[in-house]
Amino acid sequence: MRIFDVVVVGAGPAGSTAARHCALGGLKTLLLEKEPIPRSKPCAGGVTIAAARELDFELPESLIERRCTGMRVYLRKIEREVRMPSPVALMVTRSRFDAYLAQKAEEAGAELQDRTPCLGVSVENGGVSVLTDRETCRASIVIGSDGFFSGVRKSLQLRFDRDETRFCVLSDIPLSPGEIDRRFGDLVVIHYGYVSMGYAWIFPKGDYLSTGIGGALSKSRDLPDRLRSFLELHGLNSGVPIRGCFLPVSRWRHDIVHDRILLAGDAAGLVDSFSGEGIRFAIASGKHAAHTALEAHAQGDFSVKIMQQYQELCQRGIGRELQCSNRATDILFRHANLILGTAVRNEEALKRYLMTVRGDSSFSEFVGWLKKRMPRYLLRRFLLFQ
Ligand SMILES: Cc1cc2nc3c(=O)[nH]c(=O)nc-3n(C[C@H](O)[C@H](O)[C@H](O)COP(=O)(O)OP(=O)(O)OC[C@H]3O[C@@H](n4cnc5c(N)ncnc54)[C@H](O)[C@@H]3O)c2cc1C
Repeated sequence: MRIFDVVVVGAGPAGSTAARHCALGGLKTLLLEKEPIPRSKPCAGGVTIAAARELDFELPESLIERRCTGMRVYLRKIEREVRMPSPVALMVTRSRFDAYLAQKAEEAGAELQDRTPCLGVSVENGGVSVLTDRETCRASIVIGSDGFFSGVRKSLQLRFDRDETRFCVLSDIPLSPGEIDRRFGDLVVIHYGYVSMGYAWIFPKGDYLSTGIGGALSKSRDLPDRLRSFLELHGLNSGVPIRGCFLPVSRWRHDIVHDRILLAGDAAGLVDSFSGEGIRFAIASGKHAAHTALEAHAQGDFSVKIMQQYQELCQRGIGRELQCSNRATDILFRHANLILGTAVRNEEALKRYLMTVRGDSSFSEFVGWLKKRMPRYLLRRFLLFQ
């Protein structure tokens, strides 16, 4: 039986980051991935500058298909365009981006085993047994970074509640780079009002557009038709194959750490409920999980007390922001016409929001800023009959 210090389940951004940092710290690390790498991942592939800053290396130019500096926003009849002086997000194709992160984990010394689904984990006899279709191995700690359908999460009897689950439909639309430059350039399109608790998007890549709609689970049935009408509205081919997938937006009702098991990224539900951004929090939580694993090994202490450090690191670094976003999202979308509509009308507010996407300010700072100005914005809007 092979013995590791840490087994990381799932080689997405959370898992590859966790494995890289564990290996860099000298831990014998196994990174398990069920799919062959590169694997496809339904995602719009917007790596915010805040997310890129979480990495301890520069992304190679070959992975960056476009640098977006702003957005074109729609809500009913409102259309606004805002740009920042420097990029807010890097556009990537997830299969290639994730394969690169997995390669960085390997370069740091982690053993990457793809095409190997983890079939179960059990904490027993002072360690964790990890079952795959090839072997049972042992580890002192398991990091569950196996995404929305996380088997590691299920082994802890945890489920995402309905209000913690978003549904998305998406489609990649091939288009010539010249046509993309002409119609979208370095702007992402965000169209609110297409679905409750979410939006429709167009993210321009090198030679295709990532398009989709994501929102509340209750509205999922008619999303494919809505996506088609959205594509037609923007003059795009609507006869394209459409995929569906889920997104977890944790309400922090459950611990993300249990005896010798840490959940990271989507498996922990670490996605921003307003924007759907998850890559940044996957990378950040992967680093926190590795930090805790290193600390536990350094002290030779795998007690719940030391594992709880992970929960605290995530709560401090990510949780407060995501919880603030949860509360703000409820208000913004429940009163979409009044509150979101007023914010969207104001270039100043949109720019301030883009600063949070860049990581130049926090989401809670943005919310505090917006709260102060909302009465003035509302007054101006209604006095001018906008
Ligand atoms: C439609 C859509 C659009 C999105 N767009 C964006 C965006 O533009 N920007 C952004 O920041 N976020 C976006 N997100 C969110 C983002 O994709 C996720 O938050 C992010 O991928 C989470 O990373 P992760 O490593 O936790 O999980 P994942 O990337 O899902 O990786 C989990 C990995 O675990 C593997 N796995 C699963 N089960 C097992 C098993 N039993 N054994 C071994 N391996 C297993 C999977 O194959 C997968 O490779 C989007 C999400 C969706 C659904």
